[in-house]
Amino acid sequence: MTTPCIITVAITGSVATKKDNPAVPISVPEQIESTQAAFEAGATLAHCHVRKDDGSPSSDPERFSLLLDGLRKHCPGMIVQLSTGGRSGTGRERGGMLPLAPDMASLSTGSVNFPTRVYENSPELIDWLAAEMQAHDVKPEIEAFDLSMIFQAVRMAEDGRIVGPLHVQFVMGVRNAMPVDREAFEFFVTSLKRLAPTATWTGAGIGKDQITLNRWSLELGGHCRTGLEDNIRLDRETLAPSNAALVERVVDMCPEYDRHPASVAEARKLLSLPEAA
Ligand code: ZN
Repeated sequence: MTTPCIITVAITGSVATKKDNPAVPISVPEQIESTQAAFEAGATLAHCHVRKDDGSPSSDPERFSLLLDGLRKHCPGMIVQLSTGGRSGTGRERGGMLPLAPDMASLSTGSVNFPTRVYENSPELIDWLAAEMQAHDVKPEIEAFDLSMIFQAVRMAEDGRIVGPLHVQFVMGVRNAMPVDREAFEFFVTSLKRLAPTATWTGAGIGKDQITLNRWSLELGGHCRTGLEDNIRLDRETLAPSNAALVERVVDMCPEYDRHPASVAEARKLLSLPEAA
């Protein structure tokens, strides 16, 4: 049997607005409802940012706490990953919610240019976030925007700053960062396998290439990320009606690659996370 595919749904992000697509969940109740529908459609990992009432990015631990409680109640066993991404706050504010002890949190192991800014992750901040995650038993998902970040994550796992096995997400299609390039993608996959044989990985494509990375990841044995954070459309003309619709698109593709969507139990086992309570 082939490896089950963990489908991550990135529900909100920090950029997309209701004007871009009315289905983007902004308030915590909307986020819970949207995630529950995505969970029922086959997603087993939710990647979450929170927003202020005016829609701007937030790093408020209280909002994260409300969201976490709602997801634990309405999506039993779903793996919840909170974002420590750079738009929500500056410096250590970005990790202020880690004491809530979500299952996972995102961790970029380097800096990169984004469409209009530098996504800045200093060595000091990366080490602090990693230490906080370790202190609160939160598994990092390494957000790899380029090859150096994969090497850095491996170094951190080897010297104990990260507890393994590593889980790495390759992100492609962000303007000014890595483009969607098949050879580079394969080099990421083979390099990770060579450097950290027990690591697991997910491919994330931004914008119209979301589906391209979904296909490549299914083909090469990785896991898939979808959701309105990364892409608001089903195709060129059609806005995605929901996060669940984007999840269904991946679920429907799985059989083409002889894969099936991971159950909660399978996803937790694959990521070496404790069984659902
Ligand atoms: Zn994110």
